[in-house]
Amino acid sequence: MFDLDNITRENVKSLKPYSSARDEYISDGSKMIFLDANENPFENGVNRYPDPQQRSLKTVLAEQKGIGPDHILLGNGSDEVLDLLFRAFCEPKEDNIITLPPTYGMYQVLSGINAIENRTVLLTRDFQPNVDKIIEAVDTNTKMIFICSPNNPTGNSISEEKINQLLNVFNGLVVIDEAYVDFSKSKSWVAKLSDHPNLVVTQTLSKAYGLAGIRLGICLASKEIITVLNKIKPPYNVNELTQQRALNRLKEVEYVETEIATLLKEKELLFKALLDLSFIEKCYASDANFILVKVDDSTKRYHQLLERGVVVRNRGNQPLCENTLRFTIGTQNENIKLIEVLKSLV
Ligand SMILES: *Cc1c(COP(=O)(O)O)cnc(C)c1O
Repeated sequence: MFDLDNITRENVKSLKPYSSARDEYISDGSKMIFLDANENPFENGVNRYPDPQQRSLKTVLAEQKGIGPDHILLGNGSDEVLDLLFRAFCEPKEDNIITLPPTYGMYQVLSGINAIENRTVLLTRDFQPNVDKIIEAVDTNTKMIFICSPNNPTGNSISEEKINQLLNVFNGLVVIDEAYVDFSKSKSWVAKLSDHPNLVVTQTLSKAYGLAGIRLGICLASKEIITVLNKIKPPYNVNELTQQRALNRLKEVEYVETEIATLLKEKELLFKALLDLSFIEKCYASDANFILVKVDDSTKRYHQLLERGVVVRNRGNQPLCENTLRFTIGTQNENIKLIEVLKSLV
């Protein structure tokens, strides 16, 4: 049985969070004189501390995601959200996590920063989790399993059945990183949060929402998990400008949807064009806004593209990804240019 208390670090359990001025007095919109936070009183739009609980933003997000605002924690990118998970639940030099390469590199980096062992269990050849091997790798100090779906850099979604198996047998947290879910036909796991107390979903405004520069990451989980994370988050981790820009963008969702539809159409065109190139051996099906392709020599092709002004990602050093490049879908013109350059290579 999953027991949140069992997997929470002792120091976090006994922690009393820092209470900021903006936590203690919550403005109800009436005209008050704020002499509590040592701010500069001359108004310039950002002279006041931001809302530490990002209430306006969470209200809109909660409505769009179909979940209560107390199931949401926001961070300075999903990278901060992931780091908070490590710090809340993993005891340095004792606990371990499981990741499924080839996958997003930050899980490994964060495990290193937090002195947590990262047990890697390779995906199968079709880039799906090897559930038996994962269960074999679990011990009493295994706190989290990270699943990226759609997966970066392979682009495929992870099987619902396999995720369900892990959610049901594992007594730690199953963290599903849905950075690319908005490009995918698969449904978000957010709808399943009430069925699984050990499920954590992370999302971001960095990809489909086009706001990588403002850094806004989203964690969706049970109220109990969110309460633990709130205890350790820096009080003002999401700044005022980020909160404003995110709110504006979320209010124009039709615009975001149009961009996503355009990118998906461009992805199909690029996919077809890539298949015609002789040195491209395989294009992997993608539920994201990028395509992983297997070429004859990824390092050679990477440098040829670079010399011609096109920067792509060489993933050839990742397991199961020998001689692969990852192409992000750009604008129509950028994709045409990519194809032109690829066609010119010898
Ligand atoms: C890009 C990406 C993110 C986004 O991270 P942010 O810190 O929110 O920009 C998260 N997870 C994966 C797998 C990604 O590829």
